[in-house]
Amino acid sequence: MALENYIRDIQGFPKEGILFKDITPLLLDSKARLECLEILVSTLKDKKIDKVIGVESRGFFFGILLAQELSVGFIPVRKPNKLPFATLSASYDLEYGSDTLEIHCDAIQKGERILIHDDVLATGGTAKAVCELVERLGGIIVQCNFIMELTLLNGRAKIAGNEIFTAITF
Ligand code: IMP
Repeated sequence: MALENYIRDIQGFPKEGILFKDITPLLLDSKARLECLEILVSTLKDKKIDKVIGVESRGFFFGILLAQELSVGFIPVRKPNKLPFATLSASYDLEYGSDTLEIHCDAIQKGERILIHDDVLATGGTAKAVCELVERLGGIIVQCNFIMELTLLNGRAKIAGNEIFTAITF
């Protein structure tokens, strides 16, 4: 079965009017999960990734798998006040209001080659904030990858200039 069949549409979550793409069927199926991981990893050969970032919270699932597969460190980027050590923050606009993401100040050394992973690329605001954090710490963004991209929202435009890869496109 094609990978997109493991993504479930949930109408009205987390609030009315929103169509939520649910990755939990993909997480439940070990074969589909492995296939998705292999597709993501296939684009990373010879890219000399030093560390993988996973974005809270659904970016943690495949973020950890990717870091393990590449035998490199994993960096959690989290919502405010979740990380215990000194942090750097970046804020980004939402439809109503704004949100903030944080990274540990010592997570990236200058010149390290970073893979950014999240489950979904929608408007691109989240990914853009993460790119900003990596750049402020002196990291080099090698690729931003996602399980899926919601193309209508054109998130790619927000992180233009970076290499982008998605396993599934809607
Ligand atoms: P963006 O900032 O608009 O690109 O939204 C991407 C972020 O929101 C990611 O961290 C996703 O986890 C989350 N997100 C947005 N839409 C969905 C969805 O339909 N399913 C799951 N997560 C989503």
